[in-house]
Amino acid sequence: MPPIDKPCGEGILPQGVSALRALGISLPPESAFPFRGIRFVDEEHSACANFAGATGFSVRRIKLHCLLVNHAIEAGVEFRWGARVTQIDQTVVTTAKERLSYRWLIGADGQNSQVRKWAGLDSRTIIRKRFGFCSHFQVKPWSDVAEVHWARGCQIFITPMTGQEVGVAILSRDPGLRLEGALPLFPALAEKLRGALPTTRELGETTSLRILPAVARGRVALIGDASGTVDAVTGHGLSLAFQQAISLAEGMRQDNLAPYQHAHKKISAVPNAMTRLMLLMGGNDWIRRRTIRLFQKTPGLFARLLEIHSESMPLSSVSMGEIAGFGWKFLRA
Ligand SMILES: Cc1cc2nc3c(=O)[nH]c(=O)nc-3n(C[C@H](O)[C@H](O)[C@H](O)COP(=O)(O)OP(=O)(O)OC[C@H]3O[C@@H](n4cnc5c(N)ncnc54)[C@H](O)[C@@H]3O)c2cc1C
Repeated sequence: MPPIDKPCGEGILPQGVSALRALGISLPPESAFPFRGIRFVDEEHSACANFAGATGFSVRRIKLHCLLVNHAIEAGVEFRWGARVTQIDQTVVTTAKERLSYRWLIGADGQNSQVRKWAGLDSRTIIRKRFGFCSHFQVKPWSDVAEVHWARGCQIFITPMTGQEVGVAILSRDPGLRLEGALPLFPALAEKLRGALPTTRELGETTSLRILPAVARGRVALIGDASGTVDAVTGHGLSLAFQQAISLAEGMRQDNLAPYQHAHKKISAVPNAMTRLMLLMGGNDWIRRRTIRLFQKTPGLFARLLEIHSESMPLSSVSMGEIAGFGWKFLRA
C-alpha cells in the first residue's frame, strides 16, 4: 500500500522537476525543499556551482509516492496494491488473484525487472555494482546545495530535506560499509552530524550503470530503473524516469514505440557519461583529487559541467578545443 519508501538520496535535478511539471505534477512547498546547486568536497578541496536559472528539489520518497499516486488516480488509473506479477505472456499478465489482458505492458518494476527478463530485453552488462545506504538526521541543513563528499572508496551524499532535516546517503563497493564506519573518513562532515538524531532507519539498495540495447519490443516497454540505471551518485535516476514517461506516453499515443527507443537513448546519454566520469573519480584518488582541485581553482569549469549535468546546456556544445583545454588544465592542476 502507498506510500512506499525506498533508499534514495531524494534529490530531483531541475530537468526532473520540469519533466514532473510537464506531466502535470507540481511539487507543493510543504513537501519539497529547494537546493540551488551542487558542491563537491574532499579532504582538501571544495567546489560549488549553481544550476543555471533553475532549482533542484528534495522530496521524501513517501511524499513523492503520494503525489504520483494521487495524480495517477485523478487520471483514472486503477491500482492493484500488493499484487505481485507472477507470469506474463503475449497478451495477459497473471497475479496471485487474477489474469489481466493488456494492450500495452509497461515494465516500471525497478532494476531487477521481471518484465525486462520476460520480454527478452535483459542485458548482463552491469558496470561497477555498488551499495547505497540512506538515512535521515534531525539537523538544520548547513547548506542550500546538495553536497557530495568524496573520500577513498566511498562518497556521502547530503541532501537538505526540510528546515530541520538532512538526507544522508553513503555509496561504496563495500556491502558492509555503513555511515557509522565511514564517517571517520569525513571528519568535517562527522562534526556537522555529531549528536544529530536519526529520524529514519537506514535502508540499503544496490546501484550500478546498466545500459540496455533496447527498451521496447512489440507492445512492451520498459521505463525507469527497469529500462537501465545510472550510479546513484549522479542523482539522475528519478529525473530519467520522469523524462522517459513523457516520451513513452507520446509513443503510445502514436501507437509506435520506435520514437521512445530513440528518445530514451538521447535522454540517457548525459547521465551515462556522468556516471562514467564520477565512477572514474570515485575509483582513483589521484584523478578525484586533481579534478576537485581543478574545479575549485576554475569555478567556471565546474559550473559548465553542472549546466551539462542539469541539461541547461547540451553535451554537444562542448568543443574538441574545450576538451583539450580541460585535459591541459587537469594535468597542471
Ligand atoms: C542509494 C541510492 C540513492 C539514490 N539517490 C537518488 C537521488 O538522490 N536522486 C535520484 O533522482 N535518484 C536517486 N536514486 C535512483 C532512484 O532511486 C531510482 O532511479 C528510482 O527509484 C527508479 O524508480 P523506478 O520506479 O524505476 O523503480 P523503483 O523505485 O525501484 O520502483 C519499482 C517498483 O516496482 C515494484 N515491483 C518490482 N517487481 C514487481 C513485481 N513482480 N510485481 C509488482 N510490482 C513489482 C517494486 O516493489 C517497486 O515498488 C538513488 C538510488 C539509490 C540506490
